[in-house]
Amino acid sequence: MTERRQPAGLERLRADYEAAKARLAEIGFTCEGSLIERYTSCKNPNCRCQDPDQRHGPYWQISWKQNGKTVSKILPADDAALYQEWIANRRALEAILDQMRDISRHAAQQLLAGRGRPLHGPQRPRRRTA
Ligand SMILES: [Zn+2]
Repeated sequence: MTERRQPAGLERLRADYEAAKARLAEIGFTCEGSLIERYTSCKNPNCRCQDPDQRHGPYWQISWKQNGKTVSKILPADDAALYQEWIANRRALEAILDQMRDISRHAAQQLLAGRGRPLHGPQRPRRRTA
């Protein structure tokens, strides 16, 4: 096989790809869904929560999509920090994966351009909906 001179951009793409893989290796446990901080009022007309600034809470609620429907659950207060960490990890994971797809697409375009051919396939990486 003959050595083909690679465009400088390809070296950079390889380095970025390796850096993304290294960040991927650091990701801890992940969790689907998203957290919402909620404040509520109760039914007691004499309760302080009737004042909008003194409602009960915060309560942490996790929501996720299941079979096309949004499901929500209130979390025990001392579990919220765990979910927060796992969800942040998942978002970081998805961001890295998106970046790796993006780098791959650019690299593939360059490699195929060297053969005078276009890259076939979607022009944008698939975006997932949270
Ligand atoms: Zn109340």
